[in-house]
Amino acid sequence: MQTLAVIGCTGSIGRSALDVARNLRERFRVEALACGHFSPLLCEQIKEFAPRTVAVDDPVGAEELKKAFPDLEVRAGSEGVASLGDSADVVILSVVGLAGLDAALKAVRAGKRLAIATKEVLVSGGELVFKEAGKTGAEIIPVDSEHSAIFQCLMGNGKESVARLLITASGGPFRGKDKASLENVTPSEALAHPVWKMGPKISVDSATMMNKGLEVIEASRLFSVPADRIDVVIHPQSIVHSLVEFRDGAQLAQLSVPDMRLAIQFALTYPKRLPSPIARLDLSEVGKLEFGKPDRENFPCLELAYVALRKGGIFPAVLNGANETAVARFLNGECGFMDIPRFVEKKLSKTENIVDPNLEDILEADRFGRE
Ligand code: MG
Repeated sequence: MQTLAVIGCTGSIGRSALDVARNLRERFRVEALACGHFSPLLCEQIKEFAPRTVAVDDPVGAEELKKAFPDLEVRAGSEGVASLGDSADVVILSVVGLAGLDAALKAVRAGKRLAIATKEVLVSGGELVFKEAGKTGAEIIPVDSEHSAIFQCLMGNGKESVARLLITASGGPFRGKDKASLENVTPSEALAHPVWKMGPKISVDSATMMNKGLEVIEASRLFSVPADRIDVVIHPQSIVHSLVEFRDGAQLAQLSVPDMRLAIQFALTYPKRLPSPIARLDLSEVGKLEFGKPDRENFPCLELAYVALRKGGIFPAVLNGANETAVARFLNGECGFMDIPRFVEKKLSKTENIVDPNLEDILEADRFGRE
Protein backbone atom coordinates (compact mmCIF):
# COMPACT_ATOMS: atom_id res chain seq x y z
CA MET A 1 0.00 0.00 0.00
CA GLN A 2 1.36 3.43 -0.97
CA THR A 3 0.34 6.75 0.50
CA LEU A 4 -0.88 9.68 -1.59
CA ALA A 5 -1.02 13.45 -1.06
CA VAL A 6 -3.19 15.56 -3.36
CA ILE A 7 -2.15 19.21 -3.30
CA GLY A 8 -4.90 21.07 -5.10
CA CYS A 9 -7.59 18.50 -4.27
CA THR A 10 -10.70 20.52 -5.15
CA GLY A 11 -9.60 21.63 -8.65
CA SER A 12 -10.27 19.75 -11.85
CA ILE A 13 -7.07 17.64 -11.72
CA GLY A 14 -7.39 17.09 -7.96
CA ARG A 15 -10.93 15.75 -8.31
CA SER A 16 -9.82 13.44 -11.13
CA ALA A 17 -6.85 12.31 -9.01
CA LEU A 18 -9.19 11.36 -6.18
CA ASP A 19 -11.37 9.49 -8.63
CA VAL A 20 -8.28 7.51 -9.67
CA ALA A 21 -7.47 6.90 -5.98
CA ARG A 22 -11.07 5.71 -5.46
CA ASN A 23 -10.61 3.14 -8.25
CA LEU A 24 -7.23 2.01 -6.87
CA ARG A 25 -8.19 1.80 -3.21
CA GLU A 26 -6.35 -1.47 -2.71
CA ARG A 27 -3.05 0.22 -3.74
CA PHE A 28 -3.23 3.81 -2.56
CA ARG A 29 -4.34 5.42 0.68
CA VAL A 30 -4.98 9.18 0.69
CA GLU A 31 -2.76 10.53 3.45
CA ALA A 32 -3.03 14.29 2.90
CA LEU A 33 -5.16 16.82 1.05
CA ALA A 34 -4.57 20.51 0.39
CA CYS A 35 -6.53 23.25 -1.32
CA GLY A 36 -7.17 27.00 -1.27
CA HIS A 37 -10.43 27.30 0.64
CA PHE A 38 -12.83 25.54 2.97
CA SER A 39 -15.77 24.15 0.97
CA PRO A 40 -18.52 21.52 1.09
CA LEU A 41 -16.54 19.57 -1.56
CA LEU A 42 -13.48 19.46 0.70
CA CYS A 43 -15.65 18.18 3.58
CA GLU A 44 -17.04 15.42 1.35
CA GLN A 45 -13.51 14.43 0.28
CA ILE A 46 -12.37 14.27 3.91
CA LYS A 47 -15.33 12.09 4.87
CA GLU A 48 -14.72 9.73 1.97
CA PHE A 49 -10.92 9.42 2.03
CA ALA A 50 -10.20 10.04 5.73
CA PRO A 51 -6.80 11.76 5.27
CA ARG A 52 -4.55 12.23 8.30
CA THR A 53 -3.66 15.85 7.45
CA VAL A 54 -5.42 18.61 5.50
CA ALA A 55 -4.00 22.02 4.63
CA VAL A 56 -6.07 25.03 3.61
CA ASP A 57 -4.34 28.11 2.22
CA ASP A 58 -6.97 30.54 3.51
CA PRO A 59 -6.42 30.86 7.32
CA VAL A 60 -10.13 31.55 8.00
CA GLY A 61 -11.02 28.42 6.03
CA ALA A 62 -8.49 26.43 8.08
CA GLU A 63 -10.25 27.55 11.29
CA GLU A 64 -13.62 26.48 9.88
CA LEU A 65 -12.13 23.12 8.98
CA LYS A 66 -10.83 22.61 12.52
CA LYS A 67 -14.32 23.25 13.85
CA ALA A 68 -15.90 20.83 11.36
CA PHE A 69 -13.32 18.06 12.00
CA PRO A 70 -11.89 18.44 15.53
CA ASP A 71 -9.79 15.26 15.28
CA LEU A 72 -8.15 16.15 11.97
CA GLU A 73 -4.63 17.60 11.78
CA VAL A 74 -5.20 20.93 10.02
CA ARG A 75 -2.46 23.16 8.62
CA ALA A 76 -3.01 26.72 7.42
CA GLY A 77 -1.58 29.16 4.92
CA SER A 78 0.80 28.67 2.01
CA GLU A 79 3.41 27.22 4.41
CA GLY A 80 0.83 24.70 5.56
CA VAL A 81 0.09 23.69 1.96
CA ALA A 82 3.81 23.47 1.07
CA SER A 83 4.53 21.44 4.23
CA LEU A 84 2.56 18.54 2.75
CA GLY A 85 5.17 18.14 -0.02
CA ASP A 86 6.85 15.27 1.82
CA SER A 87 3.77 13.82 3.51
CA ALA A 88 3.26 10.78 1.26
CA ASP A 89 5.03 8.33 -1.08
CA VAL A 90 3.42 9.97 -4.11
CA VAL A 91 2.62 13.68 -4.19
CA ILE A 92 0.17 14.92 -6.81
CA LEU A 93 0.75 18.62 -7.34
CA SER A 94 -2.08 20.41 -9.12
CA VAL A 95 -2.39 23.84 -7.51
CA VAL A 96 -2.64 26.76 -9.93
CA GLY A 97 0.43 28.92 -10.33
CA LEU A 98 3.83 29.20 -8.73
CA ALA A 99 2.38 28.56 -5.26
CA GLY A 100 3.27 24.91 -5.76
CA LEU A 101 7.03 25.50 -6.05
CA ASP A 102 7.78 25.09 -2.33
CA ALA A 103 5.74 21.91 -2.17
CA ALA A 104 7.52 20.55 -5.25
CA LEU A 105 10.95 21.28 -3.78
CA LYS A 106 9.96 19.67 -0.50
CA ALA A 107 8.77 16.53 -2.31
CA VAL A 108 11.90 16.04 -4.43
CA ARG A 109 14.27 16.86 -1.55
CA ALA A 110 12.57 14.08 0.41
CA GLY A 111 12.95 11.70 -2.55
CA LYS A 112 9.19 11.34 -3.06
CA ARG A 113 7.57 10.64 -6.42
CA LEU A 114 6.25 13.95 -7.68
CA ALA A 115 3.30 13.60 -10.07
CA ILE A 116 3.21 17.12 -11.41
CA ALA A 117 0.34 18.90 -13.13
CA THR A 118 1.26 22.46 -12.12
CA LYS A 119 3.08 23.66 -15.20
CA GLU A 120 4.05 27.03 -13.71
CA VAL A 121 6.34 25.23 -11.25
CA LEU A 122 8.28 23.51 -14.04
CA VAL A 123 8.26 26.63 -16.22
CA SER A 124 9.58 29.05 -13.61
CA GLY A 125 11.47 26.79 -11.25
CA GLY A 126 12.04 23.72 -13.40
CA GLU A 127 15.84 23.87 -13.46
CA LEU A 128 15.94 24.16 -9.68
CA VAL A 129 13.42 21.37 -9.08
CA PHE A 130 15.34 19.00 -11.37
CA LYS A 131 18.67 19.91 -9.78
CA GLU A 132 17.27 19.03 -6.34
CA ALA A 133 15.63 15.85 -7.65
CA GLY A 134 18.99 14.79 -9.07
CA LYS A 135 20.47 14.79 -5.56
CA THR A 136 17.87 12.40 -4.11
CA GLY A 137 16.85 10.44 -7.20
CA ALA A 138 13.26 11.62 -6.78
CA GLU A 139 11.05 10.76 -9.75
CA ILE A 140 9.16 13.56 -11.47
CA ILE A 141 6.32 12.15 -13.55
CA PRO A 142 4.23 14.48 -15.72
CA VAL A 143 0.46 14.55 -15.35
CA ASP A 144 -0.26 16.98 -18.21
CA SER A 145 -1.75 14.88 -21.04
CA GLU A 146 0.86 16.00 -23.62
CA HIS A 147 3.83 15.35 -21.37
CA SER A 148 2.44 12.07 -20.16
CA ALA A 149 2.15 11.06 -23.82
CA ILE A 150 5.78 12.00 -24.53
CA PHE A 151 6.89 10.28 -21.32
CA GLN A 152 5.11 7.11 -22.46
CA CYS A 153 6.55 7.29 -26.01
CA LEU A 154 10.07 7.66 -24.60
CA MET A 155 9.86 4.52 -22.48
CA GLY A 156 12.44 2.00 -23.62
CA ASN A 157 14.20 4.54 -25.89
CA GLY A 158 17.55 6.16 -25.06
CA LYS A 159 17.75 9.95 -24.92
CA GLU A 160 20.29 9.98 -27.76
CA SER A 161 17.73 8.46 -30.15
CA VAL A 162 15.26 11.37 -29.81
CA ALA A 163 15.13 13.81 -32.75
CA ARG A 164 12.07 15.97 -31.93
CA LEU A 165 9.16 16.29 -29.56
CA LEU A 166 5.81 17.09 -31.20
CA ILE A 167 3.30 18.59 -28.81
CA THR A 168 -0.29 18.57 -29.99
CA ALA A 169 -2.64 21.50 -29.33
CA SER A 170 -6.40 21.66 -29.78
CA GLY A 171 -6.03 25.29 -30.85
CA GLY A 172 -8.53 26.43 -28.22
CA PRO A 173 -11.90 28.12 -28.74
CA PHE A 174 -10.56 30.89 -31.06
CA ARG A 175 -8.76 28.79 -33.65
CA GLY A 176 -9.18 30.43 -37.06
CA LYS A 177 -9.95 33.92 -35.69
CA ASP A 178 -7.88 36.92 -36.82
CA LYS A 179 -6.26 39.63 -34.68
CA ALA A 180 -9.04 42.18 -35.19
CA SER A 181 -11.78 39.87 -33.90
CA LEU A 182 -9.52 38.56 -31.10
CA GLU A 183 -9.27 42.13 -29.72
CA ASN A 184 -12.96 41.94 -28.77
CA VAL A 185 -13.44 38.43 -27.38
CA THR A 186 -14.92 38.22 -23.86
CA PRO A 187 -13.84 36.20 -20.80
CA SER A 188 -16.89 33.93 -21.09
CA GLU A 189 -16.01 33.12 -24.72
CA ALA A 190 -12.43 32.37 -23.65
CA LEU A 191 -13.65 30.01 -20.92
CA ALA A 192 -15.59 27.79 -23.33
CA HIS A 193 -12.91 25.25 -24.29
CA PRO A 194 -14.04 22.85 -27.04
CA VAL A 195 -12.54 19.65 -25.55
CA TRP A 196 -11.24 19.89 -21.98
CA LYS A 197 -13.22 21.14 -18.99
CA MET A 198 -10.63 23.11 -16.96
CA GLY A 199 -10.21 25.92 -14.46
CA PRO A 200 -10.44 29.59 -15.62
CA LYS A 201 -6.69 30.39 -15.70
CA ILE A 202 -5.75 27.42 -17.87
CA SER A 203 -8.81 27.92 -20.09
CA VAL A 204 -7.68 31.47 -20.94
CA ASP A 205 -4.10 30.20 -21.45
CA SER A 206 -5.52 27.66 -23.82
CA ALA A 207 -7.36 30.38 -25.75
CA THR A 208 -4.22 32.57 -26.11
CA MET A 209 -2.02 29.49 -26.83
CA MET A 210 0.14 30.50 -23.86
CA ASN A 211 -0.83 27.13 -22.40
CA LYS A 212 0.96 25.46 -25.31
CA GLY A 213 3.91 27.82 -24.91
CA LEU A 214 4.19 26.91 -21.23
CA GLU A 215 3.96 23.25 -22.24
CA VAL A 216 6.88 23.68 -24.66
CA ILE A 217 8.98 25.07 -21.79
CA GLU A 218 7.72 22.31 -19.49
CA ALA A 219 8.67 19.65 -22.09
CA SER A 220 12.13 21.14 -22.47
CA ARG A 221 12.63 20.89 -18.70
CA LEU A 222 11.15 17.43 -18.28
CA PHE A 223 12.92 15.76 -21.20
CA SER A 224 16.07 17.93 -21.57
CA VAL A 225 15.31 18.78 -25.20
CA PRO A 226 16.13 22.31 -26.47
CA ALA A 227 13.55 24.73 -27.95
CA ASP A 228 14.57 24.17 -31.57
CA ARG A 229 13.71 20.47 -31.30
CA ILE A 230 10.20 20.95 -29.89
CA ASP A 231 7.35 21.63 -32.32
CA VAL A 232 3.65 22.32 -31.85
CA VAL A 233 1.07 20.61 -34.06
CA ILE A 234 -2.57 21.70 -34.07
CA HIS A 235 -4.88 18.73 -33.61
CA PRO A 236 -8.45 19.82 -32.79
CA GLN A 237 -9.77 16.36 -31.77
CA SER A 238 -7.28 15.95 -28.86
CA ILE A 239 -7.00 12.21 -29.47
CA VAL A 240 -3.28 12.11 -30.29
CA HIS A 241 -1.88 13.53 -27.06
CA SER A 242 1.65 14.15 -28.39
CA LEU A 243 4.42 12.42 -30.32
CA VAL A 244 8.14 11.75 -30.31
CA GLU A 245 10.17 11.61 -33.50
CA PHE A 246 13.29 9.45 -33.30
CA ARG A 247 16.49 9.85 -35.28
CA ASP A 248 15.57 7.06 -37.68
CA GLY A 249 12.45 9.01 -38.69
CA ALA A 250 9.95 6.89 -36.75
CA GLN A 251 7.30 8.79 -34.82
CA LEU A 252 5.56 7.27 -31.81
CA ALA A 253 2.32 8.73 -30.49
CA GLN A 254 0.01 8.04 -27.58
CA LEU A 255 -3.70 8.07 -28.31
CA SER A 256 -6.80 7.83 -26.14
CA VAL A 257 -10.09 9.58 -25.58
CA PRO A 258 -9.43 12.89 -23.79
CA ASP A 259 -9.66 11.94 -20.09
CA MET A 260 -7.16 13.29 -17.56
CA ARG A 261 -7.54 10.21 -15.37
CA LEU A 262 -5.37 8.21 -17.76
CA ALA A 263 -2.29 10.45 -17.33
CA ILE A 264 -2.93 10.75 -13.58
CA GLN A 265 -3.24 7.02 -13.09
CA PHE A 266 -0.10 6.33 -15.11
CA ALA A 267 1.86 8.83 -13.02
CA LEU A 268 0.77 6.89 -9.92
CA THR A 269 1.32 3.36 -11.20
CA TYR A 270 4.33 3.88 -13.56
CA PRO A 271 5.96 1.72 -14.83
CA LYS A 272 2.92 -0.57 -14.39
CA ARG A 273 -0.27 -0.22 -16.41
CA LEU A 274 -3.43 -1.14 -14.53
CA PRO A 275 -7.06 -1.40 -15.65
CA SER A 276 -8.87 1.95 -15.69
CA PRO A 277 -12.49 3.00 -16.17
CA ILE A 278 -11.84 5.45 -19.02
CA ALA A 279 -13.82 5.04 -22.23
CA ARG A 280 -12.07 3.09 -24.98
CA LEU A 281 -10.99 4.82 -28.16
CA ASP A 282 -12.61 3.51 -31.32
CA LEU A 283 -10.78 5.06 -34.28
CA SER A 284 -13.32 3.68 -36.73
CA GLU A 285 -15.97 5.72 -34.86
CA VAL A 286 -13.75 8.84 -34.75
CA GLY A 287 -13.20 8.48 -38.50
CA LYS A 288 -11.00 11.51 -39.10
CA LEU A 289 -8.08 13.08 -37.26
CA GLU A 290 -6.88 16.53 -38.40
CA PHE A 291 -3.48 18.18 -38.02
CA GLY A 292 -2.18 21.62 -38.91
CA LYS A 293 0.37 24.31 -38.16
CA PRO A 294 -0.14 26.74 -35.26
CA ASP A 295 -1.11 30.34 -36.14
CA ARG A 296 1.89 32.18 -34.65
CA GLU A 297 0.84 35.50 -36.17
CA ASN A 298 -2.53 35.83 -34.41
CA PHE A 299 -1.53 33.95 -31.24
CA PRO A 300 1.79 35.61 -30.29
CA CYS A 301 1.90 34.03 -26.81
CA LEU A 302 3.29 30.81 -28.28
CA GLU A 303 6.26 32.62 -29.82
CA LEU A 304 6.85 34.61 -26.60
CA ALA A 305 7.22 31.34 -24.71
CA TYR A 306 9.81 30.13 -27.25
CA VAL A 307 11.70 33.42 -26.80
CA ALA A 308 11.70 32.97 -23.00
CA LEU A 309 12.83 29.34 -23.28
CA ARG A 310 15.71 30.22 -25.63
CA LYS A 311 16.88 33.03 -23.33
CA GLY A 312 16.59 30.75 -20.29
CA GLY A 313 17.60 31.94 -16.79
CA ILE A 314 14.80 33.98 -15.24
CA PHE A 315 12.97 34.69 -18.54
CA PRO A 316 10.48 31.81 -18.18
CA ALA A 317 9.64 32.99 -14.64
CA VAL A 318 9.01 36.55 -15.89
CA LEU A 319 6.89 35.20 -18.76
CA ASN A 320 4.83 33.13 -16.35
CA GLY A 321 4.38 35.89 -13.74
CA ALA A 322 3.41 38.46 -16.37
CA ASN A 323 0.97 36.03 -17.95
CA GLU A 324 -0.74 35.23 -14.62
CA THR A 325 -1.29 38.93 -13.96
CA ALA A 326 -2.52 39.63 -17.49
CA VAL A 327 -4.94 36.69 -17.43
CA ALA A 328 -6.35 37.75 -14.04
CA ARG A 329 -6.89 41.28 -15.37
CA PHE A 330 -8.57 39.96 -18.51
CA LEU A 331 -10.89 37.76 -16.42
CA ASN A 332 -11.78 40.81 -14.29
CA GLY A 333 -12.66 42.78 -17.41
CA GLU A 334 -9.74 45.19 -16.84
CA CYS A 335 -8.03 44.57 -20.18
CA GLY A 336 -8.64 43.03 -23.58
CA PHE A 337 -7.66 39.57 -24.78
CA MET A 338 -4.81 40.81 -27.00
CA ASP A 339 -3.44 42.90 -24.11
CA ILE A 340 -2.28 39.60 -22.59
CA PRO A 341 0.54 39.04 -25.15
CA ARG A 342 1.27 42.80 -25.23
CA PHE A 343 1.81 42.89 -21.45
CA VAL A 344 3.97 39.75 -21.48
CA GLU A 345 6.09 41.04 -24.37
CA LYS A 346 6.66 44.37 -22.62
CA LYS A 347 7.81 42.58 -19.46
CA LEU A 348 10.19 40.32 -21.37
CA SER A 349 11.69 43.32 -23.17
CA LYS A 350 12.49 44.90 -19.78
CA THR A 351 14.04 41.78 -18.25
CA GLU A 352 17.72 41.60 -17.44
CA ASN A 353 18.65 37.96 -17.31
CA ILE A 354 20.23 36.02 -14.46
CA VAL A 355 21.90 32.77 -15.54
CA ASP A 356 21.45 29.75 -13.24
CA PRO A 357 18.98 31.52 -10.91
CA ASN A 358 18.38 30.41 -7.31
CA LEU A 359 14.98 30.31 -5.58
CA GLU A 360 15.17 33.99 -4.55
CA ASP A 361 16.02 35.04 -8.13
CA ILE A 362 13.06 33.07 -9.44
CA LEU A 363 10.62 34.51 -6.91
CA GLU A 364 11.95 38.02 -7.63
CA ALA A 365 11.58 37.45 -11.40
CA ASP A 366 8.03 36.23 -10.80
CA ARG A 367 7.27 39.39 -8.77
CA PHE A 368 8.77 41.58 -11.49
CA GLY A 369 6.63 39.82 -14.10
CA ARG A 370 3.47 40.40 -12.06
CA GLU A 371 3.96 44.12 -11.34
MG1 MG B 1 -1.98 20.01 -21.59
